[in-house]
Amino acid sequence: MIDFEIPEKLLNELKMTEMVASQVMRPRARYYDEHEHERPKEFINMIWPVIREQNKAQMERRRANGSAPRREGPNTAMLRMVLLIEMLSWGDTGQYLCMPGSGLGGFAVEAAGTEEQKLKFLARFAEEEKPVWGSMAITEPDAGSDNSSMRTTAVLDPDSNEWILNGEKIFITSGSLSLCESNGFCVVWATVDPKAGRAGIKSFVVDAHTPGVTVSPGLDKFGIRASDTVVISFQDARVPFDHMLGSVEPKAKSSKGFRGAMQTFDASRPAVAASAMGIARAALEYTKEKLAEAGVVVDYEKPRHLLTAVERDLIEMEAQYKSAWLLTLKATEALVYGRGNRLEASMCKAHAGTAVTRITQKAVELLGPLGYSREWLAEKLMRDAKINDIYEGTRQINLLIVARAILGYTRRELK
Ligand SMILES: Cc1cc2nc3c(=O)[nH]c(=O)nc-3n(C[C@H](O)[C@H](O)[C@H](O)COP(=O)(O)OP(=O)(O)OC[C@H]3O[C@@H](n4cnc5c(N)ncnc54)[C@H](O)[C@@H]3O)c2cc1C
Repeated sequence: MIDFEIPEKLLNELKMTEMVASQVMRPRARYYDEHEHERPKEFINMIWPVIREQNKAQMERRRANGSAPRREGPNTAMLRMVLLIEMLSWGDTGQYLCMPGSGLGGFAVEAAGTEEQKLKFLARFAEEEKPVWGSMAITEPDAGSDNSSMRTTAVLDPDSNEWILNGEKIFITSGSLSLCESNGFCVVWATVDPKAGRAGIKSFVVDAHTPGVTVSPGLDKFGIRASDTVVISFQDARVPFDHMLGSVEPKAKSSKGFRGAMQTFDASRPAVAASAMGIARAALEYTKEKLAEAGVVVDYEKPRHLLTAVERDLIEMEAQYKSAWLLTLKATEALVYGRGNRLEASMCKAHAGTAVTRITQKAVELLGPLGYSREWLAEKLMRDAKINDIYEGTRQINLLIVARAILGYTRRELK
């Protein structure tokens, strides 16, 4: 069952978010695109008190529930998250990706941490005066799509009872914001037993300013240029024993390890798809607005054979947008009702990545030379769109997951 009715409280929140997106983010979108390593301080400072208040309320509920946090009824927090991400990305995705909060690191703690760890690590997002960020590091120079081949190691020092991390992670979103510019953390995936493959992979909460952790300056990127993307190196970085997410016993069954990483994606892929949909909607609206100024308006009543080429293109763009958005809502709805959504999460992410790439390309094409120029936003939207085809599993990897699930193949049988 999909309920398309958005609760009134959420509608009001969406209206407020739209104001931030249209009045704070959109007017500065070009500036931060052209000043890649500057932080969008107006957005960050405006949104942080709101995020902290929401986190505070969530933390109070969590504390009240104690060790039995299972809620009755639907978890509308996921729907709320997806709708707000869509709206903020409509404003400007680069700035949205700098949003303070637990981010991907928080998804990982939720997916793989014990209740005690959730209380301990997530409290800072409800309490700190200044903005705080979380991040997650899986990707390495030789371990991208096949991240089970990661080489970053975590070795237990029995004398101090600490994990010692060594290795390098690349392309980490909010890596500097979480580890150097705030009191945040990064959830780092590393192996405790390189010979064990997936079974040896665990996740560790590495706090900001941990000695032995070096963050190198960000990439010069094609799109989402305001986003903070860095390389993180670990050289004998020491992490307390209980910062390994899940059980404190590395070999215990309750330590979710690699499975925890996959569960992180169940929530983060619909979030990425929602972000893609925000860009797609922005491109569609922008294109229709500029075409209308030139006197081109789609006549939906016209028989198909009488449509102009431009009208057909616009209708096709809208159809791609709607189908990808519906798939995103379907994957989210499963999360809201606590059902498994591995297949839907990959489906919506793969489809949204493709749809937003095509829609924004078409926008540039339809708008002619100005569409290709820096004077208008269309070319920026096209550049910002492409990342949705890459992070949180590339399109190809998500299609593999979909194919395996539908055809009943194992990872070994279909790779
Ligand atoms: C801006 C940005 C932000 C990022 N943020 C983060 C982050 O916060 N944390 C993090 O851990 N990572 C992050 N990443 C990394 C991202 O998740 C990886 O880039 C992605 O997983 C792909 O890995 P790779 O780049 O090593 O490509 P590769 O794995 O080398 O893939 C290259 C190409 O081969 C294709 N391919 C690979 N294997 C197969 C296969 N079996 N079948 C068919 N095709 C295949 C891929 O789809 C891709 O097109 C980020 C990346 C970018 C660019």
